Amino acid sequence: PHRFDSIPLAPPDAILGLTEAFAADTRSEKMNLSVGVYKDASGVTPILKCVKEAEKQLIESEKTKGYLPINGQPDYRSQVQQLVFGDRVESDRIAMVQAPGGTGALRVAGEFLARQCSPTRVFLPSPTWANHNAIMQSAGAPVESYTYLADDRRSLNFEGMLSDLRDKTRPGDAVLLHACCHNPTGVDPTAEQWQEIARVISSQGLIPVLDFAYQGFGDGLEADAVGLHTVLDKCAEAIVCSSYSKNFGLYSERVGAIGLVASNPAAASASLSQLKVLVRSNYSNPPRHGAAIVATILADQELTRLWKTELDEMRIRITQLREKFVEGMAKQAGAPDFSFLLKQKGMFSYSGLTAMQADELRTKYGVYVVGSGRINVAGMDEDRMDWLCGAVAGVLS
Ligand code: PLP
Repeated sequence: PHRFDSIPLAPPDAILGLTEAFAADTRSEKMNLSVGVYKDASGVTPILKCVKEAEKQLIESEKTKGYLPINGQPDYRSQVQQLVFGDRVESDRIAMVQAPGGTGALRVAGEFLARQCSPTRVFLPSPTWANHNAIMQSAGAPVESYTYLADDRRSLNFEGMLSDLRDKTRPGDAVLLHACCHNPTGVDPTAEQWQEIARVISSQGLIPVLDFAYQGFGDGLEADAVGLHTVLDKCAEAIVCSSYSKNFGLYSERVGAIGLVASNPAAASASLSQLKVLVRSNYSNPPRHGAAIVATILADQELTRLWKTELDEMRIRITQLREKFVEGMAKQAGAPDFSFLLKQKGMFSYSGLTAMQADELRTKYGVYVVGSGRINVAGMDEDRMDWLCGAVAGVLS
C-alpha cells in the first residue's frame, strides 16, 4: 500500500516548460522570448556591478549566519520602505516585513487578507501574472477578476475596469493592481487614470494591494511609483508587495517586502503582529544574504549611484529593443503595425500572436513565445533583429 503510487502528475508550469524545451533545442539560431527575466546584449542575466561590490563588502564584514528577526533585517526594512513609500506615509502607520521575493510577499499578504479581513475577496486584473491566481487561492483568499485589457489586446479598457470595480465589488474587498509594467501585457494606466482608479477604490471602500515587481523598469524609479503614490494619497489603507528580483537582478536570492499601510499606528502594530504569526508558521524567518546586499547598496551613496546607473541601463535597453523591433517589423512587407509596443512599459507585451502562431514560431524558427502571445522584449537579440522580424512576419502572413 504505497500512498504515493497513485499521485497524479501535475501539469508542468507553462513558462518553465518552454524554458526546458528551449534548453533542449539544438538550433543555433534559437531565441527565447518566453522567460520572465532580464537579459543583457550577450543574452545573459547579469549580476549587477553594485551587487558584486556589496557582496565583497559583506564577505568581509559579515559576522554571523544567525537567524534574522521574523520580519527581517531592520536596515533592509527601512531602506526599502524609503524606496517604496518615500515620505508619503507616516512611518508609524506602516508595517514592514521582509519577504522571500515578491511571491513570498504576495503569499503572506493573501493569507493576511484571508485570515484577518474575511470575507474579503481579491479582485485580479484580467489578464494578470498567472501565479497571482494560484498564490491567492493557496492563501485561502477567494479570487475574482476585473476587466483590464481592451478587446484589441493592446490597450486598457479603462471604462470596463472602473465599472467592474464599482459594480462587482463589496466594501472591504481587495483589488490587486500592478503598480507599473503590467505583466503580461505591458499596458499601464496613465497618471490621470490612476487618479480615477484611486478615487473609485477609496469611495468603494476597497483595499488596494499593489504588486510592485518592476520599479525602475518602466519610466524610472520615481515615475514608476506615481500610480502607487496616487493610491496612497487617496486611501488610508493599502498593502504593497515589492520585489527586488528584477531591479537588483537578485532573482535567486529571494528579496521582497510587504509594506502594509494602516490608518493609525495601533492598527499598524496589530497588523504587524499578525503578519509575523503568518511568517512564523510558513518559513519562520527570511533569508539574509539578498536583503543584506540591497541594504548595503542603499546605505552607500556610491553604490546607490552605481545601482541607479545600472538600472537605467536595463530600462533604456528594453526601450531600445522595443524601438528596434517596431522599426524592423515596419520593414516587413505586409506586416501589421507594431508601434503600440512603444506605449507599453517594462519587459513584457502581448504581441498579438495566437497560440497557433506562437507554436509555429517555435517549431519553424526556434523563437520561443508564450502561448498567450506574451513576449519578453529583453530576450530579443538586437544583432539579429531583422531575422526575428522576418520570422514573426512569416507566421503572421
Ligand atoms: N509579481 C509579478 C507581476 C511578477 O511578474 C513577478 C515575477 O515574475 C513577481 C510578482 C514575483 O517576483 P519574485 O517572487 O521573483 O520576486
